[in-house]
Amino acid sequence: MYGKGIAKGLAMTAKHLFRKPVTVQFPEETRPIPARARTNLLWFDERCTGCSTCAQACPDGCILVQTAPNPDGTLEKVRYEIDFRLCMYCGLCAEACPYEAIQVGGRLDDAVYVFDNMYRDKHALTVFARDYLRRTRAALHQVETAAVPLVQTSIEVGQSK
Ligand code: SF4
Ligand code: SF4
Repeated sequence: MYGKGIAKGLAMTAKHLFRKPVTVQFPEETRPIPARARTNLLWFDERCTGCSTCAQACPDGCILVQTAPNPDGTLEKVRYEIDFRLCMYCGLCAEACPYEAIQVGGRLDDAVYVFDNMYRDKHALTVFARDYLRRTRAALHQVETAAVPLVQTSIEVGQSK
């Protein structure tokens, strides 16, 4: 009885002895990350209407949307900012967005030396999304598709951080 157990143990050891190691020497080596991995947040200016639904859905209050009315009834996005110092990457903002203008995904290697650099305005978010799409060529969505404008007449200001 004991002999059988020892043989099984040795067989398992022998099996792993000649197997290719699964360890990856990060950061020199990285594993391929699926395009739809929930690694970060991507915001697409072209799709965003400034409706503030994402800001209202965020439990941490880390999305700031400030808009002004355009003559044609659409909203000018004066400010769109995400405070990644507070974000817990729950993805509720992406689920709430009616236009898929904010989506989960993006760079995994997003560490910064200066903590305040985790606060990103719309220009930084656009650079971030464009850079990610260019680097990965991920077919997430047709981001060039124009968003359907919302007809609103008053200034709508989302929640601040
Ligand atoms: S919910 Fe979507 S469309 Fe509305 S402000 Fe947020 S990102 Fe833009
Ligand atoms: S992922 Fe969660 S915490 Fe981060 S901005 Fe979206 S709703 Fe807020």
